[in-house]
Amino acid sequence: MKRLLLPLLLGLAASAAAQNDYSHRYTRSLHDLLTEISARFEVRLKCEVDTVGRTLPYGASRIRPYSLEETLDNVLKPFDYKFVKQNDRYYKIKPYESHRRLPEEGAALLGWLTRTHAADSASFERRKRELRNGVCELTGIDRLLAACVRTEPVLTKPRRYDGYTVRNFRLETLPGLYVCGSIYLPATREKHPVILSPDGHSDRYNENTQLRLATWARMGAAAVSYDLVGYGESALQVGAETHHSPIAQLLQLMNGIRVLDMMLARKDIDQTRVGICGASGGGTQTMQLSVIDDRYTAACPVISLSSYFDGGCACESGIQICSAGGGTCNAELAAAFAPRPLGVVSDGKDWTAHVPTQELPYLQHVYGLYGAAEQLRNYHFPAEGHDFGPSKRQAVYTFFAEVFGLDRSQADETKTTVEPVEQLLLFGPEGAELPAGAIRSVTGLAPWFEAQAVADAAAQNRR
Ligand SMILES: [Zn+2]
Repeated sequence: MKRLLLPLLLGLAASAAAQNDYSHRYTRSLHDLLTEISARFEVRLKCEVDTVGRTLPYGASRIRPYSLEETLDNVLKPFDYKFVKQNDRYYKIKPYESHRRLPEEGAALLGWLTRTHAADSASFERRKRELRNGVCELTGIDRLLAACVRTEPVLTKPRRYDGYTVRNFRLETLPGLYVCGSIYLPATREKHPVILSPDGHSDRYNENTQLRLATWARMGAAAVSYDLVGYGESALQVGAETHHSPIAQLLQLMNGIRVLDMMLARKDIDQTRVGICGASGGGTQTMQLSVIDDRYTAACPVISLSSYFDGGCACESGIQICSAGGGTCNAELAAAFAPRPLGVVSDGKDWTAHVPTQELPYLQHVYGLYGAAEQLRNYHFPAEGHDFGPSKRQAVYTFFAEVFGLDRSQADETKTTVEPVEQLLLFGPEGAELPAGAIRSVTGLAPWFEAQAVADAAAQNRR
């Protein structure tokens, strides 16, 4: 009996020890958990994140059998991942994106901004100063502007077309660094309003850009486009990949300010009618420039204004401007333009889809504080997507015709002569005519930017 009892007792002890060994903490691999969640909730989960080697203690306990989204939240947040719903049966798993939030979060932020900073015009005036100071501090724009050289721009001879002329310019900003662009001028001789047109991930050679700028000129405004950092002839100096760096965001703000300086120094420009209008990334620039540069009298961000999306490129959100003033968003940056005329162009298929129901009521509230509701316009295209197509161009013609007194009857794009790329170049084919002393690599920006940021951009460009 004793012989039998001892092994039996030892066996029972071993089994109890196994049952009581919780050191593994019920750890599950993230891959397995996502596979189980996919099967359990009958949804497709597309992983755009690295799951290799990722494990979660108490994995099964994170599943909420009654809620897919709560489950995904519990499982993904420890890794700084998130889900983005594509439809009821399909979700993407993505890394955390600092520039993108949920529409409901945008609504909550607008509610907080209204309660905290927009009770009356005096508190909103304080908020405007806070935003401007915050954006200047976060970007360091004043330090960069102080380093700019103040030489005259070099302009090409005018090319004359039906009701307008085009001249190219190169303007030295930092020593050895140039911004290149084109000025479209009305054929008439009186003083013209000016419209700055920062590009949004297209170039100034683009047919749509030429149509728009030529048409504004035929309507009576001087219109200016200039290279994005890393695009067009800027790529000759800093490399195309520098565009995907916070350096680009700061240089683009600097370029916008210096190009406006250049235009306002001209005798044919009316300093009381100064506009800015860009789409997508150009819309982000429109809002950011209008906050730090108070010379604008009308602004029109196109397919960009949102309370839950700050712009997905490093040239828009590489510097976290939306942390200014304790937390802001593009909608508030645009609201800071009150009571001056503001046009907002939005569509139904991107982050501007909620403008009529979410951002516009907030803007109306702020403009209402100044008794200036009529200065706010929204051109919404619910069936359209993220483009600066013909209908949206017509909207911006209407906006500037109304606020600057332009001749709307001249908004006929068919009168435009679309020029070939070569005619819009300043430095000749492949940069053969870059001036002596011109920067030819992003490393040439080392005196003005953090060493690490320059090194990162240089490495990107070498790949
Ligand atoms: Zn960009």
